[in-house]
Parts: sequence; structure tokens; C-alpha cells
Amino acid sequence: MSSIAKDSQPKSGLPDIVPDDINIPDNYVAWALKNQKELPPITLDNVLQNINWISFLVLTITPSIAIWGLFNVKFRIATFVWSVIYYFITGLGITAGYHRLWAHRSYNASKPLQYVLAVAGAGAVEGSIRWWSRGHRAHHRYTDTDLDPYNAHKGFWYSHVGWMIFKARRKPGVADVSDLSKNEIVRWQHKWYIHLILTFGFLLPTTVAGLGWGDWWGGFVYAGAGRLWFVHHSTFCVNSLAHWLGEAPFDDKHTPRDHVITALATIGEGYHNFHHQFPMDYRNAIKWYQYDPTKWFIWGMQQLGLASHLKVFPDNEVKKGQLTMQLKKLRELQDGVEWAPEVVSLPIVSWESFQEQSVKRPLIVVAGHIHDVSTFLDEHPGGRHLLTKNIGKDATTAFFGGVYDHSNAAHNLLSMMRVGVLHGGHQHGLQDKHIPPSQRLRVARYNELSGSPYASSAWSDGESLLNY
Ligand SMILES: [Zn+2]
Ligand SMILES: [Zn+2]
Repeated sequence: MSSIAKDSQPKSGLPDIVPDDINIPDNYVAWALKNQKELPPITLDNVLQNINWISFLVLTITPSIAIWGLFNVKFRIATFVWSVIYYFITGLGITAGYHRLWAHRSYNASKPLQYVLAVAGAGAVEGSIRWWSRGHRAHHRYTDTDLDPYNAHKGFWYSHVGWMIFKARRKPGVADVSDLSKNEIVRWQHKWYIHLILTFGFLLPTTVAGLGWGDWWGGFVYAGAGRLWFVHHSTFCVNSLAHWLGEAPFDDKHTPRDHVITALATIGEGYHNFHHQFPMDYRNAIKWYQYDPTKWFIWGMQQLGLASHLKVFPDNEVKKGQLTMQLKKLRELQDGVEWAPEVVSLPIVSWESFQEQSVKRPLIVVAGHIHDVSTFLDEHPGGRHLLTKNIGKDATTAFFGGVYDHSNAAHNLLSMMRVGVLHGGHQHGLQDKHIPPSQRLRVARYNELSGSPYASSAWSDGESLLNY
């Protein structure tokens, strides 16, 4: 499965490009995992043959230069400020350009903006747009599987840098980038990539500091190498930290998580749980106060007329994800609570029998249920006498306001003392009093609801017509 779509004869100016995934089998994931061979694991004996030397050198020489510079090149404020600014410029080239524009098509960018983003992204020295987006699309399509090039299940450091330093054990899953192969700016950047990384990775940051305030060495060491070191690990955090730290407010099927620390480290890519659920949304953070400068940048470009068609997932669908996760948490809480005995598990007792039995132990009827209050006689806030005078009696009216309008908590507690149901004791008009307040609203799975359309008896004979 070629990662680069083949160009055929150009007819309309641009070549016809066949999507990479047009002919894959329906069971592609299982098929690929079974049939595409996996290289043997890396061991101490074969580690040197399995290092990806170009990535290894880029990722080690850059920080080495920066560390050397810290001890040998005077640190100047102007160069520091420029380094930070250039960190944001090249970082946004990745987040707003490579990631949200090209990998996810979350908005449209005008040509001038595309060129700026392509050049800024090249300055981050993370591979060409086409290579980067192809890997990232596979990451989204096969998240947490062996077809995901930065599979988070292989550990924090593997997803951070290991996948680049060591030769992959298997090819990433197929992902179509035929749209990018048609894009003239993406093609231009791919063609001139080496020139662009040298120019915008090192030459430009050095020259600005050199011509600007005479700090050539500082420009090279801090705005070039040091800044690059930061921008690299900032992006890498999206594959490692964002799949490891934080909450899953939208879905917990896979590893992506939301966390403000990741957002701060990645120019706003830290709301990664949201992002994996709604990857074509131009936002990562959906709340105004959350840190997502990439979103602000794209929105700003729209205001300037340089970007358009910013995609936003329907709020209604976003809420469904949030609600599902909240219900899941509530269900866990609900399952951890002890509830009143189920009515069906309780004996049905006649009034006569109830009265006979209440001679031997303190039984009181409230709302059709028989309660044994023996453990509660001395705990009753209103005093023992109010209970004892109702033994063998129906205290429904007294309980619900006749003597004292008990709190919901009192009603919940009372329900725990249920020992039986009074035969014919459920009087009309009392329906909701039979059910303790804590059990009136409950979290239930679809197949636990008797009226569910998914209950098998609800299916028709299958002859209905669809609505037009
Ligand atoms: Zn991810
Ligand atoms: Zn993404």
C-alpha cells in the first residue's frame, strides 16, 4: 500500500490522483495486522541497525547545540524574546497549518496564508506536510492499535520520540492523502523541503538576531537550536502527554485526554479527548477561557479574510458525548450505593398478619411498605415515642407531613428498613411516595428499560416503509 498516491496523466492542469485507500479490503485492520509482516522486536543485539539515524541526529544535535550555547554564548533578552516569538510562529505552522488545516481540513486557508503556514511549519523541522499528515491521519484512524504510528499503548516515550528514533516494526495503516497530493502548496513544500528547513529552521532565526541586534551566535543557538528543541517536544507532547494525562469528558474508548498542562505545552492542542472525537472541528478547546491560541489564530485569520469555512461540530452532538461520560460516572456511583430492598424480593403481608407480627418487633407501615424500625428507635430525631406510638399502625399521613414533613433523606433512610409489602396497601394517589426520592431518577442501560424500542418484542415484522 503506497503512502504516496500515484500521479497519472494530467488532464485538467492538476493530475488525477487515486485515493490510497480506494481498494482496501472491508476487514482492512484485521487483514493488515495478519498479513503485513512485522519486523522482529528491537533487542540490544540489533538496536544499532534499527536506529533511524536522521531523526536521531536531528533530535540529539539540536539540544546539544542549545546546551553548549547556554555555557558559551551570552544570553541576551532581545534574542530570548525573538526565540519565544519564533517558537510561536513555527509552532503555529504545525498546529494551525500541518495539523488543523492539512491533516484535518478543519478550515479553508487562502494561498498567502497557506504559504506562510507551510514555511513556518518547515521552520519547525518535523518533516514535510505530506509525510506528517499521512502519519497523523493514520494515528486518528487506527488510534491505539499497531497501525497507529505513535500508538500510545506502547508507552509514553515510544509515542513521544521512540517511534521516530527507532525504525517502525510495521507500516502505519493506510490513510488517504490524495487531497494533499493535489495541493500545489503542499507539493511545493515537499519539493523544496530541505532548502526550507535550512532557511527557516536556522538561517532566518539567526539572521534576524544577527542583523537586528548583532547577536549572530545567540540567534543560531537560542532562536535556532534552542527554539527548535522546544517546538519539537511541544509537538511530541500531543502524541505522548495528550494520550496520558487528564480527563476524558467526551469519550473514554481510547487514550486521548484533556488537560490544561498539555494545552500550555502544545499551543492549545491539549484538549485531545475532544479533538479525537471531533477531529474536523477547528477548535480543540470549546470553552472561551480554555487555552487554545491555535483556535484564536485561525479565528483571527478569518477576521482578516485569510481563512474561511471554519468547521464546528454541532453542539448537540458534543453534548451527547459529555452527557454519556457523565452518566457513566453517575452509574458507577449508583452501582456503589446500597439501595432499599427490591419490592419483588419482599414478602406480601396481610394487615392482620402485620398487626400480629408487630407485637413481637417494632413494625410500622408507611406508603404501603412494612418497616422494621428496631435499630432506629433510639436514633429517631423526633424521639422514640413518636415511633412506638405508631407500631402496628399505618403512619403514612404522619410521616408525610401530618406530624412532620420528613426530608428526602429521611424517606431514603426509611426505605432501607423495609421488610415487607402490605397486601392492598398501595393506596391510590401515593404512587410517588412508594419510591424513595433517591430512586425516582436513575441511570439505566437501554436494555434495562422495559419500554425500550430495543426490547425484542418491539421489533415489527420488518415490512414498514421508511419516512420520506
Ligand atoms: Zn492523538
Ligand atoms: Zn489530529
